[in-house]
Amino acid sequence: MIAVLAPDCPLQDKAEVVRLVEGYGLRVQVSETDTASLVAVIGEGGAGIADRLRGHPAVLEVRTDAPPYTLVAREQRPEGSRIHFDGFSVGGEEIVVMAGPCAVESRDGILAAARAVADGGARILRGGAFKPRTSPYSFQGLGERGLELLAEARAETGLKVVTEVVAPSEVEIVTRHADVLQVGSRNMQNFRLLSAVGEQPRPVLLKRGMMATIEELLLAAEYVVTAGNPRVMLCERGIRTYETSTRNTLDIAAVPVLKERTHLPVIVDPSHAAGRRELVPALSRAAIAAGADGLIVEVHPRPAEALSDGRQSLDPAGFLELMNDLRRTAASVGRHVASASDPAESRPEERADRG
Ligand code: PEP
Ligand code: MN
Repeated sequence: MIAVLAPDCPLQDKAEVVRLVEGYGLRVQVSETDTASLVAVIGEGGAGIADRLRGHPAVLEVRTDAPPYTLVAREQRPEGSRIHFDGFSVGGEEIVVMAGPCAVESRDGILAAARAVADGGARILRGGAFKPRTSPYSFQGLGERGLELLAEARAETGLKVVTEVVAPSEVEIVTRHADVLQVGSRNMQNFRLLSAVGEQPRPVLLKRGMMATIEELLLAAEYVVTAGNPRVMLCERGIRTYETSTRNTLDIAAVPVLKERTHLPVIVDPSHAAGRRELVPALSRAAIAAGADGLIVEVHPRPAEALSDGRQSLDPAGFLELMNDLRRTAASVGRHVASASDPAESRPEERADRG
């Protein structure tokens, strides 16, 4: 529910409207646009509160058809939010590429992958240390040792690191080593985990559940933001359909739909969507054309030897080719993909979360 007030509404009136809402035990988010001051009710306000708001002389209109998520709604930040890192940002003109193996498997392997993706122009190294595997007998990741290896790869290459966190009890240790915390598809509705990543300071890459609607993804993001962390990136990684020729079905329409409904940056994972490396370039181009702010791509120094997801992983040469290809696609939509030689704009990491 959103109460619309005049843009020049006196501060005192606005404060009264806020107090009225807070009197119901609800929080508000106040934002200003050129044409109005918006007081958004966070949470589910009943009919009584809508009537009270309508009765307040400063309230021009009460919108009860607002979506069930408030903080992540586009209306809160029509210009879109940007997540700043030291040297680049996600959600601006640059298409930010995150790349690396499915899992951290060995020191040599992650260092080789990190050098290869840095050479191609990736900004962020991916690699799972804690792996959520469908089978309990599959490789589960190196755990804390994997995090240390990712940190070593960051120190050598200057890349940032994104890695998955699978349990609330492991948030603290992952936060110590990683720059971005990934919440995987299988955990998109693990509400305790969402709140836990919302209570720590690192940006979050929230992947869409394979059976989740776009609204469910947005409500999952709302959990993180309402817990205190506004730095969330959403990731479309393919959903489960009746189609069997790809591992998942990339919901390309989710990209413009998300851009319409939320101010959060949108990332596409063509690797888990496709399941086969041959399809990764076409899906990556489609993602950029559809308006994605970034990509997360699996790259392995020797895909045939990968302990997980080798079939969908590019080798270093394939990644370089992909990045060259994507530079042209990005340019055609007025955006760009970094090169290894791009100078880093200097920006303190924990600066404003949105630009
Ligand atoms: C991954 O990124 O390696 C992963 C497990 O992805 P998802 O959660 O999308 O399956
Ligand atoms: Mn994987």
